Formats: sequence, C-alpha cells, structure tokens
Amino acid sequence: MKRCSKCILPKTFPGISFDADGVCNYCRNYKKIEVKGAPALKEILSKYREIGKNRKYDCMVCYSGGRDSSYVLYQLVKKHGLRVLAVTLDGGLITEFGYKNMERAKNILGVNHEIFILNQKKILKHVGKNIKAWLKKPSLLMIPIFMAADKTMGFELSKIGRQYGIPLLVMGGNTGVENTSFKAGYAGIYEEPNQIKLWQSIKLLKAYFMEYIKNPRYINGSLAYIIPGWFDFFAFQTHNKNFIHYYDYIKWNETDILKTIQEKLNWESPPDTVQTWRTDDATSPWYNFLYYSMTGFTENDELLSNMVREGMISREDALLRVEQENKPRYEEIKKYLKMVNVDIDIYELEKKLKIYQGK
Ligand SMILES: [Zn+2]
Repeated sequence: MKRCSKCILPKTFPGISFDADGVCNYCRNYKKIEVKGAPALKEILSKYREIGKNRKYDCMVCYSGGRDSSYVLYQLVKKHGLRVLAVTLDGGLITEFGYKNMERAKNILGVNHEIFILNQKKILKHVGKNIKAWLKKPSLLMIPIFMAADKTMGFELSKIGRQYGIPLLVMGGNTGVENTSFKAGYAGIYEEPNQIKLWQSIKLLKAYFMEYIKNPRYINGSLAYIIPGWFDFFAFQTHNKNFIHYYDYIKWNETDILKTIQEKLNWESPPDTVQTWRTDDATSPWYNFLYYSMTGFTENDELLSNMVREGMISREDALLRVEQENKPRYEEIKKYLKMVNVDIDIYELEKKLKIYQGK
C-alpha cells in the first residue's frame, strides 16, 4: 500500500493527498506539539493543593489501568506528592489486564481507588444492538459509536468530585501525539478529538444524523446516552476548568512512560499483542480490526506517524512496528463479541470488509 514518504500514513487515510515527493498533506501542515510545560502544571497543582488542604484529597485521576493513566497516577503520587483518589468508571468493557494493573498500582502506591460500576447490562446490550446495526451497513464514520458507552464520563466524574469534595480531575487520555483525528476525518473534520470546535462538532453531529437516516437500526436505547454524550464531550468536558489533561502539560513520551510503569508499578500488557496502547479497553481490538479490514490502517498508524514527525521514532521502525501492532487480535475480538451478545464469524466478516479497501 502506498504510504507517505515521510510518515507512514497510507493512501486510504481520509483527506490525504501526496505531493510530487510523495509527502502527505498532514506532514506538510504539521506543527510540532507544544505542551504548556512542567512549571504551568506545578502552578495548577499547587493551587489545588491549597484548596485541598483541609480535605482528604488534592485531586482525582480518571483511571483504567491503561498505560497512559497508570503513568499519570504514578507521577501525581510520587513526583508531585499529591493525595490522589483514583476513580474508575466501568461500563463493563475494561479488560482483565486493566483490572490487574489497577490492583497492582493501587497496592504499590497505597492510593484509594473507587470503582463505579455503571449500568453494564444495559450498556453491553446497546453496544450489541449498534454492532448488529453496523454490520448491516458497514460505515467507517460510525465505528466510534461502539465507544460511546463511556462518553458521559464528564458528568459522572464531576458528580463524584462534588460528592468527595475534590475539585480537580486529572485525565491521562490521549492528546497530542496520541490523537486519532481520522475518526472525525470521515465527516470531513481533521482535528484532534478534544480540539474539535463547536461548529465542527455540529457538523459531526449532522454527519452522524445522516447515518441514522441511512440506517435507522441505530435508533435504539443507546441514543439515551449518545446524545448527552455529545454534549458531555464537546461542551462540558472541554470547557471545564477543573478538568486537566496531564499530557497537555508534559509531553507524552512512550519510552519513559513504559519504562516507569513497568519498573515501578509492575505494569503488564497482554501476551497476544506487542501493542501497549489501550490494552485496558475491550473495545479497541474490535474497532481497530474494523478499521484495519476496511482501510488497511488503524489508530496505530496515526500514532506512529506523529511519533515519526516528533522525531521519537524513525520511519523504518514505525513501519516495522505498525505491521506487528495492527495484527488483528482475533481471540480478544471473539471475547468482546460474546460479551455484547453478537454471534458472527469474524473471519467471514474480515473477508467481506476487505472489499472496501479497493473503493
Ligand atoms: Zn506524511
């Protein structure tokens, strides 16, 4: 497959074009990631430490046992000496590895950890319904709908913060290098998810609306959280000053993150994959399989391309890595589909979806 000669984005990436030297438009327009820096983070944290003085906690960390949030938890406790409450919202799709890593980190760091079990039965049922709807009419734009179950996270976390009297929430989610702009790219929006502007989010909503018209099978109970989820993500979370993203301040550095959590927290990743990203999320093998089957790339291609542009990895290494990391995790996919009660032959599905690559 033709790929950019500078990064590794393939010709099937939405909105891509190549110049005479084979360099893609994303490389040509790329601006190196600038973070707000350690002093700015320190300033914010001391402000909240002051607020938390007579309280039990200084801040809350949204925690799932994944690579990036594990590092954030470690840094806040060990480097910044904060009294942290680790909070997990579990919609039923956190993996066994996520749980094992959380348990180990909690014991090593001695932090309190609260797990909030959401209405899992209902969430899994709706995910299953949406998968069945999707299978009738596969659409690249609609793949993120399978992740929508946890998108009212902002409201929930804010509520928990009020209950415990903790105003600051630190998120360890993906910003910067780990962006996945191609997901909205299928609606003609080329932005990092948390930098999507309001007018763009409306455009996105409209594109989704059209998909609902084309495939009304999506109109089910899941709308009850997908619509609030839209407000939550694009309006509530992005404008909430008490929510900060750790990696907006400190540059995400995979080598340092992995080294720290493996050495200090005994963090482990599943043996069936070389990938270390989102190993806490049971949905990720599924949606990456869909992207990979239909386009020949996954979110790993975008991550690694950003790492190449940031000078964190060579293009040759990125190519070697992506081939390994993109390998479908069939057994994990089967487990996931069983959880959401969808009975299909994934090898048959793979064959069927590969037809889209030629289009
Ligand atoms: Zn490129």
